[in-house]
Order: sequence, then C-alpha cells, then structure tokens
Amino acid sequence: MAKKKLTGFLAASGEAKGWKDIPEGGLIIKAGNSEEYYTGGWRTFRPLVDKKRCINCMQCWIMCPDSCIYAENGNMEGFDYNHCKGCEICALICPIKCIKMVKESEFDESDNNYDERGRTTTIEINEKK
Ligand code: SF4
Ligand code: SF4
Repeated sequence: MAKKKLTGFLAASGEAKGWKDIPEGGLIIKAGNSEEYYTGGWRTFRPLVDKKRCINCMQCWIMCPDSCIYAENGNMEGFDYNHCKGCEICALICPIKCIKMVKESEFDESDNNYDERGRTTTIEINEKK
C-alpha cells in the first residue's frame, strides 16, 4: 500500500502517530518540548517588520506569548515562523508601528523585499491607525 503523504505538523515532525501512540487524555508528559512542535502552521496572519524604522525597544520580544521574536546583541532580528501563531500582539505593542500583519494566503514567499525572518529594509512599514 502506498504511504500516505504527511501534511502540516506531521510533515514538519517527520512522524505519524496513531491514536495508540498518543498519551491518555493528550497529556504532555515531557517538560519543555514546545520547541519540537511546528505550531506556525496554525497561523493566518504573518508579522513583517521594517528594520529601518525599528528602534530595538524590544517591547515585541517582551510581549510575544510564544517567544517568537529573535533577539541578537540587543536587537530585534525578525520572527520565528515555525512557532509564531500570528496573534498580532507584537504589532499592537510596537510603539512606532513598524510591524504589519499580512494574510498568509496573500503573502508572496518569493518577495525579495523580505528575508526569511520577515525583515525588510527596502519597504517602509508604518501601520499608524
Ligand atoms: S504575531 Fe504573536 S506569536 Fe507571532 S511574533 Fe507576534 S506576538 Fe509573537
Ligand atoms: S516593538 Fe517595534 S520598535 Fe520595538 S523592537 Fe519590536 S519591532 Fe522594533
């Protein structure tokens, strides 16, 4: 019989589990394993950041409920799309509104203005409402 093609989380994790392999009640029996799960597949909206305007205040890093903001040498360095769920908190908290949310279905992966972490230095993002 042909092997069924895996999608979503199963494709990312590379393993398919049957119901007998899942702990009773769906309990999480291993601490600190959230990094192993590809929860970014739930996302409807994708955050993007204008790194020319960003002042590295790190408010987004503090407030992201999923620790999806990369921080390097005191700078905000984009988003971890494997775990970001697109909740928009970072965009709402950003004091200068240099984060915008776009629909995943409308985002063009081949758009060279953004790198793999959703950073741009060529497009101005100013989401003042
Ligand atoms: S959209 Fe939500 S989960 Fe994604 S980086 Fe922003 S605050 Fe974090
Ligand atoms: S909240 Fe806005 S200005 Fe502050 S680090 Fe994040 S993206 Fe940059």
